[in-house]
Amino acid sequence: MQEISAYLRRTGKKIGLVPTMGFLHEGHVSLILAARDECDIVIVSVFVNPAQFLPGEDFKAYPRDLSRDYHVCKAAGVNYIFYPDAKDMYGGDYMTYVNVNEISDKLEGKYRPGHFTGVATIVLKLFNITKPDFAYFGQKDAQQAVVIRKMVKDLNVDLNLRICETVREENGLAMSSRNTYMSDENKSNAAVLYRMLKTGKGLVLSNEYGTSKEIRKKMKEYAETNCPECSLQYIAITDNSNLKKIINIPEYEGEVLISLAAYFGKTRLIDNILFYKKNERLNRI
Ligand code: AMP
Repeated sequence: MQEISAYLRRTGKKIGLVPTMGFLHEGHVSLILAARDECDIVIVSVFVNPAQFLPGEDFKAYPRDLSRDYHVCKAAGVNYIFYPDAKDMYGGDYMTYVNVNEISDKLEGKYRPGHFTGVATIVLKLFNITKPDFAYFGQKDAQQAVVIRKMVKDLNVDLNLRICETVREENGLAMSSRNTYMSDENKSNAAVLYRMLKTGKGLVLSNEYGTSKEIRKKMKEYAETNCPECSLQYIAITDNSNLKKIINIPEYEGEVLISLAAYFGKTRLIDNILFYKKNERLNRI
């Protein structure tokens, strides 16, 4: 792959990389199509990265089907699928890890310590192997996007990042390879997450609430009333660069990220909504 990419770059081709863990769905396809629009060559990596799973998580159970992925990639116009083996990526006496401090320990990082070290490490390795001009990630994994953006900036990685919008089912459920774990009933229940996020966004923009604590409480109540099967793990209202909690809602101006994790049965889902908020008080003056 490194040789192919080096050759492609020498011959002036623009390379787009879409890193995935496979079991591709329309969310992944939207990234592939964005890459096709901008690049001459699209590489999709398919690698279930052991380094980003904690002991007891679903590394073994994670859905895998390369021939299905192959057909999805072919139909979407992908040029190369990079499908390495865990031994190729971490074989021998592997020792080096990338840690984006502070932001990796927040939100998801609190519940999945070490997860983002695994993510940043594999993503940098994939960048070095495929040498992309552009790399495509989904807003679906909001914190991952923040961590990768910071890594690219801090380590002067020479490429352009594109963060693409979350693709959802008709009922609002964000597409995810992990949705295959859920029953139809769970999937329709899980649509509550997006409704909750939209409710939260409305409350933030209404300026009727002084603190994010009140808004988180309202969102939780919404879930409890509308979907008792939803077991919320956290809701966070933060900025989108350092994931700092927004305490004083009316005074805040900038991008607002509301993110959450919840269980439906044994399946853990994450989702988020990102939007811009003006400081109405400032703008009135
Ligand atoms: P994954 O295979 O789940 O690791 O995801 C690979 C890439 O696809 C990541 O950048 C994800 O954020 C992105 N992605 C996953 N689901 C969606 C979705 N529903 N909409 C947009 N992008 C997504």
